[in-house]
Amino acid sequence: MSQPILRLALPSPLRRLFDYLPPAGAAHAALKPGVRLRVPFGRRDVVGVLVEVVAHSEVPPDKLRPALDLLDAQPPLPPALFRLCLWTAQYYQHSLGDTLSWALPVLLRQGEPAEARQERFWHAIRDARPEDPRLSRAPRQREALKTILQHPHGVAHALLGQLQLSRDALEPLMQKGLVRVETRRRQQQRDHHGSWLLQAELPLNSEQQAAFNAIRAGLGAFHAFLLAGVTGSGKTEVYLQLIHQVIASGKQALVLIPEINLGPQTLARFAKRFNARIALLHSNVNDRERLDAWLAARDGEADIIIGTRSALFTPMRHPGLIILDEEHDASYKQQEGLRYHARDLAVVRARQEHVPIVLGSATPSLESLHNAHAGRYALLKLTRRAGDAQPPRFMRLDVKSRPLDAGISGPLQQAMAQTLAADQQVLVFLNRRGFAPSLICHDCGWLSQCPRCDARMTLHQRHNELRCHHCGHAERPPRNCPKCNRVDLRPIGAGTERAEERLTTLFPDFPVLRIDRDSTSRKGSMEALLHRINRGEPCVLVGTQMLAKGHHFPRVTLVAILDADGGLFSADFRASERMAQLIVQVAGRAGRAEEPGKVIIQTHLADHPLLVQLTEDGYFAFAAQALSERRAAGLPPFSHLALLRAEAHRPGQAEDFLDQACGHAESLLETLGLEGIELLGPVPAPMERRAGRFRAQLLLQGNARAPLHRLMAAWVPLLEQLPGSRAVRWSLDVDPIDL
Ligand code: ADP
Ligand code: ZN
Ligand code: ZN
Repeated sequence: MSQPILRLALPSPLRRLFDYLPPAGAAHAALKPGVRLRVPFGRRDVVGVLVEVVAHSEVPPDKLRPALDLLDAQPPLPPALFRLCLWTAQYYQHSLGDTLSWALPVLLRQGEPAEARQERFWHAIRDARPEDPRLSRAPRQREALKTILQHPHGVAHALLGQLQLSRDALEPLMQKGLVRVETRRRQQQRDHHGSWLLQAELPLNSEQQAAFNAIRAGLGAFHAFLLAGVTGSGKTEVYLQLIHQVIASGKQALVLIPEINLGPQTLARFAKRFNARIALLHSNVNDRERLDAWLAARDGEADIIIGTRSALFTPMRHPGLIILDEEHDASYKQQEGLRYHARDLAVVRARQEHVPIVLGSATPSLESLHNAHAGRYALLKLTRRAGDAQPPRFMRLDVKSRPLDAGISGPLQQAMAQTLAADQQVLVFLNRRGFAPSLICHDCGWLSQCPRCDARMTLHQRHNELRCHHCGHAERPPRNCPKCNRVDLRPIGAGTERAEERLTTLFPDFPVLRIDRDSTSRKGSMEALLHRINRGEPCVLVGTQMLAKGHHFPRVTLVAILDADGGLFSADFRASERMAQLIVQVAGRAGRAEEPGKVIIQTHLADHPLLVQLTEDGYFAFAAQALSERRAAGLPPFSHLALLRAEAHRPGQAEDFLDQACGHAESLLETLGLEGIELLGPVPAPMERRAGRFRAQLLLQGNARAPLHRLMAAWVPLLEQLPGSRAVRWSLDVDPIDL
């Protein structure tokens, strides 16, 4: 009898399956699609997922190798998730094996059993009493028994130390038959006293109630909702009340948030509200905890699953609702390997699993607004701040021909001084870390260029370093100019470090707190800063977009945006959208309590129509204007893009590869009879050299998705075969967000 052939998806960029023979001794009935096997691959062993079992292979029999181990009795990935991965691999033109390895927790990729850990728990037997006469002369045992009795679900062995229990006291209790040890899988316990709530729900205002009602009515089937609510309008309260409905009906809720919002504040809000089992999946969770959370979600043992982008791939036994907060946030798009957009995939998943999805934001992406206008998403608006806070007022401050001192104009200084004198806080936003974006020689014009990138190195004065923010290269700043050897090197422009230094001098009586990636990299430093800010004393906060997200600063009444111009004349057509979102998000941090906030935007383009729309009529007016510009230019969401990127060590190699690719695409367009697709390029990437490689790109633009995908499906296998494809590193980005 001939052996069945196993076709496996392996963690390889190659878009194909790989054939193997069954491992020695494996019962054929155990070889179910979805199980993991360890197989030899090149000179390594890798873990793959069985996709199908077939009778014949194209591979000659003497080349077929047997798999080494069968790792699962049951497929670890439920069919719904497998289906999502298939869809993802196809849509993003990515290998299925690599897609699965992005979707699975690290430990499963490495072959760890897909089961929760077994743990020992100490329990008191039912009628054990501390007054038991056998304990009258054993006070330590009596105390230990008391402690155990306080834990009706038992005490995990690992926690004995924390409860000051020792085995010396427990062993004799066990011999007396008063306690017993039970081995079971670790489960998050939910104390069931009937209610799912630990805290009362706030009465919703009328807009919140309308949104809540609409979404609740959609439970049990697929619907997409765009919850567009200004900052502080109570979106989170709406999520919480919906989640309550979902978990009370025995289902699970998946909540996705951007990494940067995953502060303790957000999590505490869920934990304080619910008597429920919450599984966390984000970057601060270690691999073991991540696997446990994943398994708990899969097995229906977690009620609420909260995580960042990749948590989208968490299986759920009883899916009930998906919420994706801050849906405009760029961190939902993965920028390496599998370049998926968690927002778009979340909608696909919701449809596949027949649950509603809520996309929430104060500044919805133009894509989502367009979907709402087209009737694909139901638009729910929250226009008022919950509680009584007033919306902030905007002011465009024209800085043309005004002197700027570390980026700060005279009128802004005055406004800051007034605010501080009134005992209030000021937030200064500047999206540039470091001291100065570059160092220049005043004598010969030498600039601190990164040796590996077409970019300047940023001066970080505190660490006395020049750093490239693109490749990570760092070096000591030279004392003498490397070109002319004179000694007049000057920092030009201002980053947060320089603004901080200058503000400290300008306002010596007030603390200046800097919040950016550099100042918060140590564990706990962000919490310490937030704690200081929340004490409410007048101070100046200066920072990057870290300040724009997730936090509430009720004592901030003045927000200053030092430089809004970058977003208005960038080559990237999405730059203005991002700038508008940032301005609105930063502004939303201010004046949340009694005091209304004021937002001063320094700009050289005070009459720019988009900026005028945004500041006078608000984000939706801006979005309408920006959408009509996109429509006129035929840009997304009115067309669809895919970007083929290539990079290589030698100049010209990437372009050669892309030229060949372009040639193939042109002939495919003809043979497949596809219309409405344009090939733009190849052109050098906006930063041509990065980390020592030369980069180029070819853009595909299509009026409709279907023909574009037909082209890519036929094209990508050809790219893998191109002779030049070994010398270049290439990737295809479907729906790119950075061009
Ligand atoms: P968002 O998520 O839209 O930024 P939040 O849900 O965080 O808004 O609400 C902002 C503030 O308003 C929070 O302090 C919240 O407790 C409060 N809040 C929300 N809804 C209500 C309500 N219906 N009544 C009173 N306060 C509310
Ligand atoms: Zn010089
Ligand atoms: Zn660099």
